[in-house]
Amino acid sequence: MSDIADVAAIEHDIHIKAALGIRQPSLPFTGFCHYCLAKVIGQSHFCDADCRHDYERLKANGRK
Ligand SMILES: [Zn+2]
Repeated sequence: MSDIADVAAIEHDIHIKAALGIRQPSLPFTGFCHYCLAKVIGQSHFCDADCRHDYERLKANGRK
């Protein structure tokens, strides 16, 4: 049985997930840096903070 509160909660959850998805899109773990393609050890998307920063800046510029 669902009422308006349940629907609102589901709606809220969808919006939160969408907002998070835009800010931090889930990239696949390839074992390589997504920016410079260097080999990455462990569950990381980038080899260092600089690559993460450059990647995000590039992506932000590409959206405009
Ligand atoms: Zn890198």
